[in-house]
Amino acid sequence: MSYSLKPGVISTGAQAPIWWAISQAESVWSRYGAPLVVTSLLEGQHVRNSLHPYGMAADLRIWNLPSGAAGQAARELQQALGADFQVMLESDHIHIEHQPRSGSGPSWPTSGGELPAAASDNTLIAVAGAGAIAIAFLLFG
Ligand SMILES: [Zn+2]
Repeated sequence: MSYSLKPGVISTGAQAPIWWAISQAESVWSRYGAPLVVTSLLEGQHVRNSLHPYGMAADLRIWNLPSGAAGQAARELQQALGADFQVMLESDHIHIEHQPRSGSGPSWPTSGGELPAAASDNTLIAVAGAGAIAIAFLLFG
């Protein structure tokens, strides 16, 4: 069993739970006779509040799975990983992320509203917020 990283994938900073999840995915993929290819870890553009920049998410290639098997593979992987992980079947990949719910493991931000946005986003929001307040003050102050 083995997996490969798509060229350009940045694996530095990927956290232990994600490596464990990848090893679990290898087992699932091997049952379908498909090599596991990790198509994204820390790099790339992801949705806001993504866990990718934290090294807590990975994207897995699905087109090399047998036709129609991706949904079943996603369910099997979810079962193997347990409740502290989320497995999502997207249009062209399976997204997995570590999102502890049990309270027994390390505490990581969830992908819900309480997850801090990327630092650059925070800065932009802070600047935009200050600007809006300044403008409001000028207009109405
Ligand atoms: Zn993803």
